[in-house]
Amino acid sequence: MNPELAELAQQVKGFMPHDEGVALYRAAAEAASLGPLVEIGSYCGKSAVYLGAAAAEVGGVLFTIDHHRGSEEMQAGWEHHDAELVDPSTGRMDSLPVLRQTLIDAGLEEAVVAIVGDSVTVAAHWSSAALVFIDGGHGDAPAHADYEAWAPKVMPGGLLAIHDVFPDPADGGRPPYEIWLRALDDGYIEHDAQGSLRVLRRSPNG
Ligand code: SAH
Ligand code: MG
Repeated sequence: MNPELAELAQQVKGFMPHDEGVALYRAAAEAASLGPLVEIGSYCGKSAVYLGAAAAEVGGVLFTIDHHRGSEEMQAGWEHHDAELVDPSTGRMDSLPVLRQTLIDAGLEEAVVAIVGDSVTVAAHWSSAALVFIDGGHGDAPAHADYEAWAPKVMPGGLLAIHDVFPDPADGGRPPYEIWLRALDDGYIEHDAQGSLRVLRRSPNG
């Protein structure tokens, strides 16, 4: 991966350890020339830099989706709240301005298209993707809804990546782990793992 982008990704606010980001980059590099990459959960663009770097190298594109209003655990009073991301005019969270600045700083404005909205709504109008990365709402309903909406969009032979998969409940919440189990049950094949990142491949036969 381009060392300048690797350096920049580590400076961006967010939730993607560098070794997991590099694994994400590797998966994206395999997929980016076959079709679009889709990310659920842009936040400030940290993981989008890893994915977007791979897309840019082959003239591909990453669509990164987020309503930018934050997940439950990012709201005021919760564990992952960041007061710097509150829009004073609405009192609500808004990570979109930071995402845009990240893409400018990374020189990835062409390779990365930000989609602002609810992931399941977008999925309803989406056809297919060479790689889908699920890192949106981590609660029970949102994680399963993202899996149900987006897993069918992965093209045969394409990749499905899931973040925050913790087999041991002591390490983190259940839903991402549960959807990883669902993917295995649905015939996805384990392809790569790094930290809490899991990458699966959809069977080439559909
Ligand atoms: N990938 C990011 C972290 C994502 S945090 C990184 O590398 O740092 C999860 C994000 O998912 C939040 O920004 C939140 O706004 C978004 N999100 C949660 N539920 C969503 C939904 N239903 N539709 C779109 N975005 C959602
Ligand atoms: Mg995550």
